[in-house]
Amino acid sequence: MASSVDTDSSGTIPSKIRVEASSFCQLRCPSCPTTAGAIHPAIGSGFLRFDDFRALLDNNPSLARVELANYGEVLLNPHLFEILEYADSKAVAITFSVGVNLNHATDELLEGLVKFRVRHMTCSIDGASPETYRVYRVRGNFTRVIEHIERINDFKHKYQSEFPKLTWQFVVFGHNEHEIPMAREMARKLGMAFSTKINWDTKFSPIRDKVFVRKQSGEGATRQEYELIRGKSYLSSICQQLFDDPQINWDGKNLGCCRNFWGDFGGNAFVDGLHSCFHHEKMNYARAMLRGHAPPRDDIPCTTCEMYHSMRARSDWIGEGGAKNCG
Ligand code: SF4
Repeated sequence: MASSVDTDSSGTIPSKIRVEASSFCQLRCPSCPTTAGAIHPAIGSGFLRFDDFRALLDNNPSLARVELANYGEVLLNPHLFEILEYADSKAVAITFSVGVNLNHATDELLEGLVKFRVRHMTCSIDGASPETYRVYRVRGNFTRVIEHIERINDFKHKYQSEFPKLTWQFVVFGHNEHEIPMAREMARKLGMAFSTKINWDTKFSPIRDKVFVRKQSGEGATRQEYELIRGKSYLSSICQQLFDDPQINWDGKNLGCCRNFWGDFGGNAFVDGLHSCFHHEKMNYARAMLRGHAPPRDDIPCTTCEMYHSMRARSDWIGEGGAKNCG
């Protein structure tokens, strides 16, 4: 299909990006696309290499922030200590805000998280007891995760540091909903922020007491309910990443956003450069699609994404400044 979209390759790069540090995960969470192997065709299996990360920072001195978590477990990357050390030496803030399961980490690495000032870390803990936690976090060990958080807190005390700021993220299911108040209280005692997340897979352990969950989460008991109440898709802000902080795969592939695991948006950040990826014709075209200025096109991952279909059904496009239209 012919395009009238601006494919200008000039311009700058964003000051923050996302680079997956590990697409491997040691857990087998039943609804996760990593467990199912669904991510393999586009994302593959691997770790971000230190040399690629160093070159990325050296070649893009305007970078100020890098999120390293996505589909795998960041803490499994054997080069992570060096990566964090180098980022800190270049005054680049690292975050693991998408989430870590925190099941495996050496003491040296836990100290490194504090010493090299990882700014924020979301810990995925869907329960307040070992029995409940392991129903979804298959192969996970609740007690060890809590011990790791306590160890991080010890190092924060030693270094007199507020970093990493910690958030306990609790994905709500039928089997764990009764433990939300207990988990919130544990998080408070551990000095963590607490947030619930609505499970996307309504077939696995569906919510039992919707009234209770609505009250606890403050945002609905299911994603469908959230959509009805708020008039937009749950996590629809992900599309902003194409404008503000694009996702790069562990091997440099331009994935555009953290949700996409079925295609690419053109170029390789480690081979062609970040600028070339951010201004690639496919990125420009996708942005025009998300603004409602261009029709769907087969080679653009958004074309097969439910977020795009939801936006299109509502004509609820992203505004010119990148922000979502409110109307
Ligand atoms: S429509 Fe889907 S693939 Fe495209 S930016 Fe949004 S979440 Fe990513």
